[in-house]
Amino acid sequence: MSVIVENAVKLYGEQRALNNVSFEIKSGEIVGFIGPNGAGKSTMMKIICGFIPPSSGAVKVNGFDVLENPLEVRKNIGYLPEHNPLYPEMYVKEYLEFAGGIYKIKNIQERIKDIIAQTGLEREQHKKIGALSKGYRQRVGLAQALIHDPAVLILDEPTTGLDPNQIVEIRNLISEAGKSKTIMLSTHIMQEVEAICDRIIIINKGEIVANDRTSEIIQNTANNEVTVLIEFSNDVDEAVLLQIPGVSKVRKINDKNWLLSNDQGQDFRENIFQYAVSKGLSVLSMQKKEQSLEEVFHELTK
Ligand code: ADP
Ligand code: MG
Repeated sequence: MSVIVENAVKLYGEQRALNNVSFEIKSGEIVGFIGPNGAGKSTMMKIICGFIPPSSGAVKVNGFDVLENPLEVRKNIGYLPEHNPLYPEMYVKEYLEFAGGIYKIKNIQERIKDIIAQTGLEREQHKKIGALSKGYRQRVGLAQALIHDPAVLILDEPTTGLDPNQIVEIRNLISEAGKSKTIMLSTHIMQEVEAICDRIIIINKGEIVANDRTSEIIQNTANNEVTVLIEFSNDVDEAVLLQIPGVSKVRKINDKNWLLSNDQGQDFRENIFQYAVSKGLSVLSMQKKEQSLEEVFHELTK
């Protein structure tokens, strides 16, 4: 069950929300879709789900074109929209019956029972949606997206606005669903994509700026700088540290703690040790800093 986007363009009046966006999500992948606010994430997701048409370009879900075969596409896709619009006056079960009714599911009661168990809603199933916490409302949103057992899940910022415990719970549900489904999820939490996604697509101002495994994106975008965080047993001088072979930049944290960098990609940790020995200093700790996805994200979307 793949998703293929080819040269998607979306114009809102004069504004180009998407500019020639192309990418593919292969069957079984969990792909993170990240980008700053206004980058075009929700617009792209709504187009994939067939809720709005692209101005030009093509989107295919499992080979079905979203414009030519919207019903087939809907059958294959579960969608959790941003801000998860629910009906607060409806009961959880009633809402899922309503959501499932659209798909003419056989044995709907059985299916609702299963999905309620799967999303951990047993104790809340007889409550009104309006009475649920945000985390449980998000579970209802996921249950709604999963009700027809779609092969593809499109989740637009599923953990935004949740507290840290709720985030972990929703993430676990997503990972669990990902074992049997193709998933695209947008988020602005970098740890989230690092924790659950096979691959990341970064979008900025309507254009794809990166599309790869996290480690590859970091490697390809990260500058060549090697930075080492070091703690000495005694006070040290900046001028002296600059004499260590391979050290091109020195940043002071305090007299004992320093950040030393090499801008040519050279690992100079051994040189630090030799220097310390020659000066009768002890190295209390030394840590090579890896560039984070967060830093790379800022680099790509600034
Ligand atoms: P994201 O989800 O990445 O925050 P959106 O897809 O919501 O981005 O929005 C992309 C751009 O398109 C934004 O500049 C937004 O203001 C604009 N936009 C989104 N929906 C509409 C709309 N219905 N009418 C006009 N402009 C819109
Ligand atoms: Mg959005």
